[in-house]
This record gives sequence, C-alpha cells and structure tokens, in this order.
Amino acid sequence: MKNSEPKNDLMEKIVSLCKRRGFIFQGSEIYGGMAGMYDYGPYGVELLNNIKAAWWKEHVQKRDNYFGLDSAMFKEPRVWEASGHTSGFSDPLAECKKCNTRIRVDKELDKIGVKADEKMSEAKLNELFNEYKTKIKCPKCGANDFTPVHAFNLLVKTNMGDFTGKNENPAYLPGEACQGIYLNFKNVVDSTRAKIPFGIAQIGKAFRNEISPRNFLFRTRELEQADTQYFIRPNENKEAYEKIKQDRFKWYVSMGIKPENLRFKQHENLAFYAADAWDIEYNFPFNGFDELEGIHDRTNYDLTQHMKYSGTDLNYTDPNTGEKYIPWILETSVGMGRMFLAFISEAYTEEEFGGEARTVLKLSPRLAPIKVAVFPLLKNKPELVAKAREVYEMLREDIRTEWDDNGNVGKRYRRQDEIGTPFCVTIDFETIEQDAGVTVRERDTGKQERVKIEDLKDYIKGKIH
Ligand code: ATP
Repeated sequence: MKNSEPKNDLMEKIVSLCKRRGFIFQGSEIYGGMAGMYDYGPYGVELLNNIKAAWWKEHVQKRDNYFGLDSAMFKEPRVWEASGHTSGFSDPLAECKKCNTRIRVDKELDKIGVKADEKMSEAKLNELFNEYKTKIKCPKCGANDFTPVHAFNLLVKTNMGDFTGKNENPAYLPGEACQGIYLNFKNVVDSTRAKIPFGIAQIGKAFRNEISPRNFLFRTRELEQADTQYFIRPNENKEAYEKIKQDRFKWYVSMGIKPENLRFKQHENLAFYAADAWDIEYNFPFNGFDELEGIHDRTNYDLTQHMKYSGTDLNYTDPNTGEKYIPWILETSVGMGRMFLAFISEAYTEEEFGGEARTVLKLSPRLAPIKVAVFPLLKNKPELVAKAREVYEMLREDIRTEWDDNGNVGKRYRRQDEIGTPFCVTIDFETIEQDAGVTVRERDTGKQERVKIEDLKDYIKGKIH
C-alpha cells in the first residue's frame, strides 16, 4: 500500500500521525502557530534523542580519532564575518506583487526544470528568472507578477551583549553549528592527544531566516545540525573524502533506510574555496529525492579565515616531523529534523495484519521511542496488575518502558504499533499461576514467545542494540 500511494497523501498521513501520537507539534500552536518552528512531543523527543545517541555512538564512541564538542551558540560577531555569513549567506528572494508572498527563486526555478541554486550571482538569477518567470505562479494567490530577485541574508540578528539600545552591534544566532568546531580546533589539539588526521563531532542548534519554510521538518527556521569535521594534511583529501561519503551512506542503511531510497548527488556549483561537494539525498514522501546530508571537501578555507580574522595562529605542527601547515577539512553536516523525517517516513507502513488494517512504524529498535510496553491481561484483576507492575518496574530501570492497561490487548498492540514499539509484554494468568513467564510479542511479525521473567531484561536488551 505504501509505495503505490500518491506522495502528498502519504505525507499528510505522517504529519497527522506525528501530531496525534505526540511526536511533533506546530510551534506556538495555541497562538495560531509560528512558521518554520516545530516542537518535539513526548514520543518525538525520545526518537530525536535516540537518533542523536546512535549518531554520537557512530561518530565518537566507536572511533579512535574523533572527539566530541558542545560549543556555545553565541559567538564573537566577527566569526560570522570570517566565515562569510554576514556578506554571503543568502537565498534569492522575490515577492509576489499581489499578495506579498515571498518565494525562494532558485527552488521555484528548479521545480520547473531550470537548474539554479543559491550560490549563483544575483545578476545570473535575475537573468534566469526574467527568462522563465512566466511559468512560475505565486504559491499563495496564483498570480504571476513578481519583484526582481535580491539576495536575502539568512542570519538572525540579536541584541545579546549589545547595550546601545539601537541594535548597532548585533550578535548573531548561529547560521550553522559547525563554526564552533573551527573555533575550538586549537583547544582540542592542545587538550587531547589529537593528531592529524582526526575529527571533531558536534550536535548544535542553528537558525536561518528561511524565506519559505516548508515541508514539515524539512525546512525550518530553527534547526539542529549533527556535524563532523575531519582535519587532514593538505591535499590528502581524495581517498578520505570517498571513505567518509561511503561510511555515511552505509550508516543510514544500518539504521533501517533502504538503499534505493538514498542516493548521492554532486554539487554542480561549488563555493569558490571548495574542492568537492556531494549531498546524500533521501526519497522524501512529499517531493521525492532531496538533500538529507551535505558532505563537503572544504580545503583549508575555514581555518585560514579564522586565523586571518582572529590573529591566532591556527597552524598545526606535526609532532613527528615538525612540519607546519593549516589542515584541510572534510565535513559532514545533517539536520536532525531531516533525519527524523527520513527515519519516520521510511518506517511508516500501512498493511493488512491478521486480517485487519494496521498502521505501524517499523523503526529500527535502536531508534524506537519506547522499546517495550508492559500490559496486565486484565486491568480489574489485582494479582495480574501487581505482577505486571513488578515486571514494569524491573524493566524501566534500564530500558525505556511504557505501561498500558487501557482497552483490550489487541487495542494496546495497535497503539504500540503506531508509535513503533518493538516489543509488548503481557502478564496473564499462566504467568502467576504456573510461573510460565510472560508473553513477548514482536511488532513486525506478530510472533509471540514465552520468556521467563528472570530472563526478560536480557532478552529485550539483546534485541534493541
Ligand atoms: P538547502 O539547500 O536545503 O537549503 P543547505 O545546502 O543550505 O540546504 P547546509 O548549509 O549544507 O544546507 O546544511 C547542512 C544540513 O543541514 C543540510 O543537509 C540539512 O540536512 C540541514 N539543513 C539546512 N538547512 C535546513 C533547514 N532550514 N531546515 C532543516 N534542516 C536544514
């Protein structure tokens, strides 16, 4: 059923499940909502935390030469000058003259098959827009009358530390999270045994005044990015870059994404300093393949810029040879919201199961918000409830466990299926009268197994890592 469905219909179902089951809520909803802002609800935050933990495990815990970081969001404003964000971090904007809706011109051109991106000059984008704008309609009112294109800077200004009252010295919210890694490159080298090649990993917030936030979590104004920056010797980029690309692809597959829903796409327009840039695209339900993660070969641009603007020597000295150089950087950067959307879209399944229709999130057990749900067979039998409570208390010490005694067991299964819980444990009369253990039901197959209470924790643990 899943694949034959029109994509937008599927997206609506996913958005609706996210709201109904407490994964994602519109930001400031009771005030009518705020564009490009979303809140993670009770199950959403669990899934989000599990994605972060799995990413951290892969990029820090399981690697010899990667170090973690959590840098402050606010940075000395010159950081954003050095990085090029105050001058060049912009998207091309045009406004509908009838209803004032703003459109992102490169994306609108792209939709009608004209290759364009935000790195093109304002003049080039105006030229393309003038040539093709008769084919572009305002997404709100349908009119076809736009202002010329201008580059709109996406940085969000604040008055943090600015006491002039006139916002003359703005500090910026981070336009991207990774700048904190460059600023701490020297600190990490000096405080650890980091030797090139090595990486720094960080998950951090970023803010962008996106012209048209859309497609649910895909394009938001507040986002979180999981970044790795791999510091290498100059010109030793090719092999390492290819390995990083392949590793990231394989990681998504290991977390449950089908390879046919992922693909690589090389950037046609490179930033002037970049040696190469690829995206990993995911087949999102609303408009097909689009950027999930960026993998960039950034040469020595970032550290060179920060050295120039800060006056601090960011050269690395090889401890064995004494050779001095500014390292090159290979970067991976992915938005947590886009990952969340990819994992939940991939998992969303409608199927016939035991003669009935069901909706189930076939999330990898590692990512599932709740790992196990515990049910007393009947809610009005104190002896069943007491034993089930005992099992529940035991499991929840180490495993994210949920209690459910509402409705019949079939209904409880459906509820847990919808939030992706891989195991449901039922305590019945055989459990207490014959010491026969509990019934463990597996989400995807519906297979049931009797497991002794003393073995239960290890049984579940063995299946969720
Ligand atoms: P796009 O072309 O879609 O605007 P980008 O090329 O500007 O993205 P980067 O600046 O390379 O994106 O950011 C790295 C990653 O951060 C992206 O691959 C994406 O996963 C995520 N990301 C970027 N902008 C947003 C956003 N507005 N909302 C959610 N995630 C985002």
